[in-house]
Amino acid sequence: MDRIYLDNNATTIVDPRVREAMDPYFCRQYGNPNSLHGFGTEVHAAMRLAMDRLYAGIHAGDEDDVIITSCACEGNNHVLKGVYFDLLRNGPKSEILTTQVEHPCVRNTCAFLEDLGVKVTYMPVNADGIVDADTLRRHIHPERTALVSVMWANNETGLIFPVQELAEVCRANNVLFHTDAVQAIGKVPVDVARVPVDFLTFSAHKFHGPKGIGGLFIRKGLKLTPLIHGGEQMGGRRAGTVNVPYLVGMGLAMEMAGDSLAFEASVVRRLRDRLEDAILALPDTLVVGRRELRTPNTILASFRGIEGEAMIWDLNAGGVAASTGSACASESLESNPTFVAMGISDELAHTGIRFSLSRFTSAEEIERAAQVIRRSAERLRAISSTYDGAQAGPATTGGN
Ligand code: PLP
Repeated sequence: MDRIYLDNNATTIVDPRVREAMDPYFCRQYGNPNSLHGFGTEVHAAMRLAMDRLYAGIHAGDEDDVIITSCACEGNNHVLKGVYFDLLRNGPKSEILTTQVEHPCVRNTCAFLEDLGVKVTYMPVNADGIVDADTLRRHIHPERTALVSVMWANNETGLIFPVQELAEVCRANNVLFHTDAVQAIGKVPVDVARVPVDFLTFSAHKFHGPKGIGGLFIRKGLKLTPLIHGGEQMGGRRAGTVNVPYLVGMGLAMEMAGDSLAFEASVVRRLRDRLEDAILALPDTLVVGRRELRTPNTILASFRGIEGEAMIWDLNAGGVAASTGSACASESLESNPTFVAMGISDELAHTGIRFSLSRFTSAEEIERAAQVIRRSAERLRAISSTYDGAQAGPATTGGN
């Protein structure tokens, strides 16, 4: 029986059409795009097309910059450290505002900057699990806040943040706004012509492109000290020979991500809701965050009395791949900061399982996964020392 992959927030399958598009640029058209001879110039057109697809995918303007990075961790490091060098190290500002639920690459970079003397404020999430505009208004101080960094969608819960309003608050206060849009691209519309973000990061492997390449949008006219110094690639903003095959793949993957938004919002959402209903039909389960506030592909569920890691192993044995939360956090035994921020009890935090679908997930797989999950929950509860039988009460959903 085929395995069922429900861990698409960790990474996605490369779309076969993307792989096919990348193929010529390994062994046939392998020139350095900066070389002046034919080997170099012939890859230029492919690079240009890929860049155009990236600009179109996020609705960037001709004068904006999109620079190619090795991953979203790099893009996020670049923004935070760049702003440190530009506005914080020698003034005039002193503070970065972010949230308590960012990906570790934002959280840990902020912790690093705190060691260098930057004041970082981690805004709390509200009862829905998001940071709203009022919270930002309460925290923002135009005279000292250099940057606000808030993700577009959370990798663990799928909750979508009100980035339009947040960006507008920053604009009104003349404060830079960065959003980590890694979990938003291909799931919800991402439009920088409409949403006044200054910096935005994305990563190809989350939307059916290759691993090891991403992008950083920089609004026209904005200065940002480079993270990687060297040659003049990317207009001097990010040195290093561009990975042409991967860029070609990311460009096509971005275009396909845009084309599949309606499919995500209808078909993927329906499959997600079907799986969610099946989970909530089991006793003592809950799902974090209201459905309509989440990306269409994500469920963060809790099965009372079942250790998350045990369930992952059991599901895996049954052919279902899921995750205990962020793949990056799963190696650490510390309480998951997102759960802590959302006020989710330690017991629930240790029973959280994330199921994330993609446009490659089929209805048949969802039916099979629902059965495997039900059997797994029954089996593990039968041997659980902490599960004392079904408790009365609704299978609540909600942030807290
Ligand atoms: N930001 C978010 C929200 C993510 O989910 C991830 C990956 O899990 C990253 C950043 C890091 O992406 P990359 O693997 O491209 O560095």
